[in-house]
Amino acid sequence: MDKFVNLIQAAQAIAPTAGPPAELVRLTADDTPIVLFTHQVVEVILHYAREPEISSYVHCNGGGESRCALCLAGRSLEERYLLPVYLPLSRSVGVLPISHSLRPNSLLCLLLPHLEARAEPVSPPPLLFVRRQDTRFTVSSGLLQPGEDDGAAVVKAFRAQLADGRVRLVDMFPRIPNDRLSAIPDIARLLALKGIPTALETRA
Ligand SMILES: [Zn+2]
Repeated sequence: MDKFVNLIQAAQAIAPTAGPPAELVRLTADDTPIVLFTHQVVEVILHYAREPEISSYVHCNGGGESRCALCLAGRSLEERYLLPVYLPLSRSVGVLPISHSLRPNSLLCLLLPHLEARAEPVSPPPLLFVRRQDTRFTVSSGLLQPGEDDGAAVVKAFRAQLADGRVRLVDMFPRIPNDRLSAIPDIARLLALKGIPTALETRA
């Protein structure tokens, strides 16, 4: 006999976290216009889980320590600053992930001068055009024309949501408990090959 399950509950078991609170800015070789409005970032430590069951960046469950199934499986850590920016094309706030690299042509190195020149909150908000080719970034300055939408209303609403906790930048990426990670066949196999028991706790 078929074993029926409730589709909504089944879907919630796969993805228990809510969707991301804002658009993730994915830079390409074409110009992406952004408007900077804050210096404030959230730091996150991520793994890229390439398994088809996940196929995205997820939070490290151990903060780089050993209590994370993906750390134990030997997956590399990627540290990112999450910077909210205004996206004039979609007229929304997006979140730009920035690696910690300070080498020339890194995104952080190219953005810093535009932030350092302005106090927090960033005013007047600079319009930038950002593009990426592999690990090389290009940032060029634009000029918001008088009367052009600088996102002030959208940014004000976003700040209010951040302030009262309705939006959290850490929710841009899922946090998947260790028991679910270590139940994924490829990760389970890696842990077994390393002789690591899969009964790991996830630190709250
Ligand atoms: Zn980890």
